[in-house]
Amino acid sequence: MSPIYLDNAATTKPDPRVIETVMKCLKDDYGNPSSLHHFGERAYNIIEQSRRRVAELLNAEQEDIIFTSGGTESDNLAILGALKGQEEGHLITTSIEHPAVKKTFYYLETKGFDITYLPVGPDGIVDEEDFKKSVREDTILASVMYANNEVGTIQPVENLADIAEKNDIIFHTDAVQAVGQLEINLKKSNIDLLSLSGHKIYGPKGTGALYVSEDRDISQVLYGGRHEKGKRPGTENVPGVAGLGKACEIARKEMSSYVQEMIRLRDLFIEGLIGEIDLVRLNGHRKKRLPNNANISFPGVQGDILARRLDSEGIAVSTGSACSSKGFEPSEVILSMYDNRPRALSSVRFTFGKWNTEEEIYHSLDILPQIVKNLKRISPKGRF
Ligand code: PLP
Repeated sequence: MSPIYLDNAATTKPDPRVIETVMKCLKDDYGNPSSLHHFGERAYNIIEQSRRRVAELLNAEQEDIIFTSGGTESDNLAILGALKGQEEGHLITTSIEHPAVKKTFYYLETKGFDITYLPVGPDGIVDEEDFKKSVREDTILASVMYANNEVGTIQPVENLADIAEKNDIIFHTDAVQAVGQLEINLKKSNIDLLSLSGHKIYGPKGTGALYVSEDRDISQVLYGGRHEKGKRPGTENVPGVAGLGKACEIARKEMSSYVQEMIRLRDLFIEGLIGEIDLVRLNGHRKKRLPNNANISFPGVQGDILARRLDSEGIAVSTGSACSSKGFEPSEVILSMYDNRPRALSSVRFTFGKWNTEEEIYHSLDILPQIVKNLKRISPKGRF
């Protein structure tokens, strides 16, 4: 059997229609969008067509989209750009954010901001009441991810954005994992700032966008030309932007059948696994999770060793745990959900995508029980 890629939350294999769009642009549309001649005009038109496609996926206004180099830059630009000029105040975020948000807040803490890191329950979801209670007179901004990248849990961001609006707090959401899988309608939302990334939706790496609501302004954090309304200087990555636009157009047109298929494969996998292997536990809410995410703890097995064994069998998955100088560190997200180190250390993330087939799921389910059984036999007792 050919290799099986079950790590679609890490990145996705680009759609051939995206590749074709990028290649055509690289070959034929190489003008600088700022140039006044017709080469420039063609490139400019490609950028604006992509801006419209991104906006359509989010049901947003075209002029509220800024192109960036990806999710990380969008998160940084949103948070740092919204706070520019301020030197103190209170900010709210969660304990399960991606490093692109979390580390931006760590930096802001060193600059004198006071930060509340909201916990999540065992379901991996932030509590609205906790959010409400954390609001203070001096709260300036809140950032809560739309859906988590490790366990896929969906946060109540629309309700949190409403609370933020009532308290005149800027609300940012990292929607990198949610875009293309969840319906987002920014015209009906109080979300002020939203980040997305191209390579999670079958688009090119190094591409992304930030939505900035017309009611809120952000300052630039890089200095240079007047590109992207002065918010993000630098000659645009025209082929990348073209690919991102195409990926958004495909995502919008095919979302409902895509989501249905992801749920089908995910549930086939989860139910199959629970039926086959004793004691496996799904991490995070069973329903309020991304259509393509199954994060599973295998008691008695170290997650990274299982991931490596699966890789040697041709199946690519990932763990939220990481090697560090102190040894093997458990996933911070799962630790903050269950406060249970063995559970966090034994977790593996399986994320499905549009190139996966039912046969691949059955094949994975066929070989997993034996691998897990063998690993349990050699694991140090009681550690996982
Ligand atoms: N935010 C989330 C939730 C992510 O999953 C990722 C990527 O893994 C990022 C931000 C960063 O996106 P990029 O790789 O485009 O910088």
